[in-house]
Amino acid sequence: MFFKTESEKFSRLLESLRDKKVAVIGHLRPDGDCIGSQIALCRVLRSRGIDTVCVNRDKVPFNLTDFVEDTPFFTNETFKNDGRVIVAVDCSDRSRLGEALLEKHFAGTPIFAVIDHHQSHNGDAGQSIVVPTAAATCFLLAAMLIDNGIAFDGCTARALYAGIVTDTGRFQYSSTDETVFEVAGTLIRNGADAEQIGRRIYGQEKYGTLKLLGRFLETVRLCADGKLALAYIPKDAYEQTGTSPEDTETFVNYLKNLAGVAIACKLEQSTKSLKGSLRANGDRYRVDLLAAKLAGTFGGNGGGHKQAAGFSLDGLDLEKDRERVFEQIREWLENPQNF
Ligand code: 5GP
Ligand code: MN
Repeated sequence: MFFKTESEKFSRLLESLRDKKVAVIGHLRPDGDCIGSQIALCRVLRSRGIDTVCVNRDKVPFNLTDFVEDTPFFTNETFKNDGRVIVAVDCSDRSRLGEALLEKHFAGTPIFAVIDHHQSHNGDAGQSIVVPTAAATCFLLAAMLIDNGIAFDGCTARALYAGIVTDTGRFQYSSTDETVFEVAGTLIRNGADAEQIGRRIYGQEKYGTLKLLGRFLETVRLCADGKLALAYIPKDAYEQTGTSPEDTETFVNYLKNLAGVAIACKLEQSTKSLKGSLRANGDRYRVDLLAAKLAGTFGGNGGGHKQAAGFSLDGLDLEKDRERVFEQIREWLENPQNF
């Protein structure tokens, strides 16, 4: 057994969904772990005769669309709520599902259940299965399927594998222990092909994304004796390169991978907020706490994992407020009280 208590909870959750219609919802700007766990849970529920669909505020990123296959997947615009309960996955709190989606389709609807692995999880779902030490929501989900002896198809195996590959940084983050490989091995035996999945996720880079990366890298600077790497997406860069925010997910890693860097931060302008990605090397610095601190200081939302977190600061402007945010991060990093 990988997760005895959680797997029992999962089995009870399946039982309690038997007479329900379900919407499996993930977080804003969904990543591989989010989409993967949505596809997997949706397919498992459907295979048990439970009427289930997936819905997100945002569309499935282009490099993940192949994983969807015939799984019903909707966005805010295409979805119609016909009395579905919410099961949230890979989502640390209700607001991360997206106000626009909740207001339009689920006003006043409580979250029926959640399956998540965020350190900063702060949900209030009816049933919650949360394991902050799990390397990915897809890992937790796959382990619970295996623990319960629940059969799953190739599409589910591929989706789960995709989530694990992405959330472990291709099996490199500290969360990658032997059980991750055991579960991944089972997924490969059930139809996940490591090379093909790797190529789907990482081998379809667009020319525009490379040009955007160039613009981003021009802004890199090091401070705090080289321990802090900062960079941002220039305001006109998306338009000039024909790209969009979903194309920048891996950019912060270029900063994180610089020799000597302890914390990396990428900033970009979002419609109503200034959006940041934080990464830490090693376990000395907790960027989930830093993200929450920035949200507290400037107003907004922040959280994530110890070594990979993010924030969105309401109403802040990249040009006007960038330096204030960077300065706060530098101060936090240089203040030993924070550790
Ligand atoms: P990324 O930097 O890749 O957008 O996100 C890294 C991690 O931080 C993810 O696990 C994500 O869920 C979390 N995260 C990103 N942005 C936010 C945010 O605005 N609020 C919270 N609470 N978590 C975030
Ligand atoms: Mn995740």
